[in-house]
Order: sequence, then C-alpha cells, then structure tokens
Amino acid sequence: MRKCVRCGRSGLQKVETEQTLTAAGRTFTKSIEARRCGSCGETYLPALALARLELEAAYWLTRNQPAPSGEAFRFVRKALGLPGNELAHLLGVAPATLCRWEKGKMPVQMLPWAFVALLVSDELAGRRRTRDVLETMRQARPPSKGRVRLPDLVPEPT
Ligand SMILES: [Zn+2]
Repeated sequence: MRKCVRCGRSGLQKVETEQTLTAAGRTFTKSIEARRCGSCGETYLPALALARLELEAAYWLTRNQPAPSGEAFRFVRKALGLPGNELAHLLGVAPATLCRWEKGKMPVQMLPWAFVALLVSDELAGRRRTRDVLETMRQARPPSKGRVRLPDLVPEPT
C-alpha cells in the first residue's frame, strides 16, 4: 500500500504499534510493525496481523496452562477457526463433552489439550501435520486382516 485509503495522500511511514488482546483472563501485548499516514494519522496493520496475534496468544495458553479453563479452551479453538463439532470430531470426543469443557463443567483432559497445542503449532507454521494424522485416523476403516501393500513414504516436512 502506498497511498492512504482514508485521505488519499501518499507518505505512509513504518511505525511500531502496540497491539493488545484480552483472552481467558489475561492481556497479551505485542509490538507489530504497521504503517501510519503522515497526513491523517490512520494506521494500517499488516494483513492477518490480528489473526496471528490470536494464534500466538493461543500458543502461549497451550504452553503455559496445563489445565486450561473453559474460556481458554474456547478461545484457542476459535483462534484455530474450528467449529466445536469439528474439533470434537478431530479429538475423538462427543460434541457434548467439548461443550462441557468450554462451559467449565468438566476439566479438559490433558491429551486432547496436547493435540490442540499441536494444532496451534502447526497453524503458526503453516502446516497441517497433526490435523492430517487425526483426520486420517478418524476416517481409516481398513480390513482387520489380509495383505497390505505399503506405499513409498513421503518424508514429513520438518
Ligand atoms: Zn491519511
């Protein structure tokens, strides 16, 4: 962007802006490089900056809250952009269970939470490794016996 959308003048300068996000009883702050119009003062954040801030807060929550509150779980799910029933399906739990977690009526189990943490890491890294594993496991219905021809393995991205 070279011209200010608001006033039409050129002359956008790089500035550091302090972004704040409140989630699950905490306030997260981060310095983000934005552009500011020298004429009218309008500030332009880079595309997806706020979605990324949410994901980074979600990452912090998954790494620092071994037993998340329902509110924290819900925030992280939303940062991942996953509807409740979709995440429940991925984690192999009933949607009603996930609903109880989010309402704080039942503690979130450690392993599902660990998988949520992996989903957040993947999303930040722009990959789908954990999701692919979970989806494949949820769909796989191979015969229980018989011959299996193994495909050439595709190396996983690091
Ligand atoms: Zn302007």
